[in-house]
Amino acid sequence: MSSDVRVRFAPSPTGKLHIGGARTAIYNWAFARANGGTFILRIDDTDPTRSTDENTQIILRAMRWLGLDWDEGPEVGGEHGPYAQTERLDLYRAAAQKLWDEGRAYPCFCTPEKLAEDRAAAQARKDPFQGYQRTCRNIDPAEARARIDAGEPYVLRIKVPEDRGDVVIHDAVHGEVTFNARELDDFVIFRSDGTPTYNFATVVDDAMMGITHVIRGDDHLSNTPRQVMVYEALGAPVPTFAHISMILGADGKKLSKRHGATSVEEYRDQGYLPDAFVNYLALLGWSLDGETTIVPRDVLASKFSLDHVSKNPATFDPKKLDWIQAEYIRTMTDKEFADKIMVPELHEAGMIEGNLEYDEAWIDALAAIAKPRTKFPADVVTVASPIFATAETLEYDEKSVAKGLAKEGMGAILDEAEVALADAEWTPEAIDAALEPLPEKLDLKKRIVFQAVRVAICGNLVSAPLSDTMALIGREDCMARIARAKTMAL
Ligand code: GLU
Repeated sequence: MSSDVRVRFAPSPTGKLHIGGARTAIYNWAFARANGGTFILRIDDTDPTRSTDENTQIILRAMRWLGLDWDEGPEVGGEHGPYAQTERLDLYRAAAQKLWDEGRAYPCFCTPEKLAEDRAAAQARKDPFQGYQRTCRNIDPAEARARIDAGEPYVLRIKVPEDRGDVVIHDAVHGEVTFNARELDDFVIFRSDGTPTYNFATVVDDAMMGITHVIRGDDHLSNTPRQVMVYEALGAPVPTFAHISMILGADGKKLSKRHGATSVEEYRDQGYLPDAFVNYLALLGWSLDGETTIVPRDVLASKFSLDHVSKNPATFDPKKLDWIQAEYIRTMTDKEFADKIMVPELHEAGMIEGNLEYDEAWIDALAAIAKPRTKFPADVVTVASPIFATAETLEYDEKSVAKGLAKEGMGAILDEAEVALADAEWTPEAIDAALEPLPEKLDLKKRIVFQAVRVAICGNLVSAPLSDTMALIGREDCMARIARAKTMAL
């Protein structure tokens, strides 16, 4: 299915990709995918003092990590490029020149002092309109040309038509929003330094790129009537706007650093799964049916719609994010868990190198005990450490040794375990069966016996199920560990 729907995510590379921006990107991506449309990534880097290439790279990396593939934009190209505003200055100039030539824009020579005076005068006479007083609107074009040629600085302003009534926006989220056209002054579209303003450059881009739906944060709602003026002046169709709500912290204030991690890469580094993270962010203001919490990527990409986007602010809830993360891990098969999380993590930790070191059954058995103990990928390493150690390299946790091993009578437990295990078959069931009679035989509590063996084998008291772990370690190394542990037991 393909359609004419064209949407864009247009981050300014003045910082990293944060949660709010990521959610805007997700909505645009999902809307394009659900409608068979085109998702465009555009870098709004017109603020040269705050935009950096490094931030652009960080944003692209974050988009890739989130799995939000774009159809046109940096690195992938497209027919409507370039996709960075700094590379489009000629296009903005040409568009502005055209408006000027058509009498829809005009040069203004007012100095900042003159503008401040006008504003003070409007305040003094209690004029409800305190914007630009259209001082230069009717300067004769020949006079304007002469002043420009003489080197006088000027900006270019758009001419808002006198008879333009209220500007009514049919926002897909907020419904009908009316702005009083009288309050729209003839705003600046080009600054005196020859750079375009945001409201102008964005509309030129959106018009030239054929954007049909502008989905963005509602901090831009107030810019929209001005942007509508630019569309009208350019003679371009006005897209559908969808302004999405703010994201708040638990205290009801706008989400910021004070609330903890705000950038996508911080979540990546903490070990969140991109699928779980995208699922969670998608629910900040959108819902599938008002109750479903687990919305896999393919469902999002087929069912997302703007009429299920709420205009109320959403509250960021880290507990819900963690719950979703746990659900994604819980519902994976052991095999998926091994492929997507465990093996990559073990590689990264240097615990496994080649792919052929361990057979599939061994990897599956490890996944079966690691998965229920994993909230974040790094937990895999904690579970696997004693298993990947050897009798020589295993580190014994001091407290565990003091509690479980270095006590009177523990040596006897290990002696008996050695005998019982000597000719047991090496499967979890057989290991269990071999150790089972020990407490009665030694007249000790079951907990005491198993604790001692656990510390001897794993070096600590908190590891995964004992017999599964022992089966994975192998008989020889388990026996060597017991022999080593006997030197610590009394
Ligand atoms: N670069 C703008 C921002 O990051 C884009 C706003 C828009 O989508 O029009 O806020």
